Amino acid sequence: ILELDSVSKSFDGKQILNHLDLEIGRNEFITLLGPSGCGKSTTLRIIGGFEKPDEGRVLFEGKDITGLSPDKRNVNTVFQKYSLFPHMDVAENIAFGLKLKKKSQQYIKDKIRYALKLVNMDGYETRKPDSLSGGQQQRVAIARAIVNEPEILLLDEPLGALDLKLRHGMQRELIKIKQEVGITFVYVTHDQEEALTMSDRIVVMNKGIIQQMGTSKSIYDEPQNAFVADFIGDSN
Ligand code: ATP
Ligand code: MG
Repeated sequence: ILELDSVSKSFDGKQILNHLDLEIGRNEFITLLGPSGCGKSTTLRIIGGFEKPDEGRVLFEGKDITGLSPDKRNVNTVFQKYSLFPHMDVAENIAFGLKLKKKSQQYIKDKIRYALKLVNMDGYETRKPDSLSGGQQQRVAIARAIVNEPEILLLDEPLGALDLKLRHGMQRELIKIKQEVGITFVYVTHDQEEALTMSDRIVVMNKGIIQQMGTSKSIYDEPQNAFVADFIGDSN
């Protein structure tokens, strides 16, 4: 569904992504895994259209979308820090994008109910974000992304701010969402264990280069170089 074709990006003369090639299949859960600063968020921002590559192309179903702005892509992003609108309640937050698209009130109401149920937050419609826990806010952010029916959902360390127990619960929920909604996930984490449990395929990155790509099992059982072996081994 999505392809990065030899994407390069530098900041201040420092090369962050070095001719990155990546193909993502429809309804795949793919995880970008690697140490801090290796270019994971930059890759995601390029896919989302928030950043332009210096070289290379981004293709959506074979079509070049490199120059398209974020709102023209069928891609939605959830960032690490929940970026809910603080003055709006939960329902208004979820409805925001749908109202921009001029959807009917009934449609919006149905979507809110569906999405809140999906993330186990039914009954929270009138709560303000600051009265919710971090995990609950992140659930609402995911619900808000999903009602827009993106073909691709980009998640940049969405559980990074949560404690371990909450993370495990939300990992299970994300897997449930993946099974229930036809959606392609591009997920970013630097947590090896999280990547191994959630992903159809893992892309291990370091220094702007893909070190290895494959299923969790193949990455875990057959690391192709010392970096991957060390990095995955760290989780034990
Ligand atoms: P982390 O796990 O810490 O989130 P990351 O893999 O997501 O790391 P990126 O955010 O992609 O890393 O950043 C890669 C490098 O690019 C870092 O050295 C960062 O400082 C630099 N960088 C990212 N965005 C910019 C920018 N807009 N201007 C200058 N440098 C940037
Ligand atoms: Mg990052």
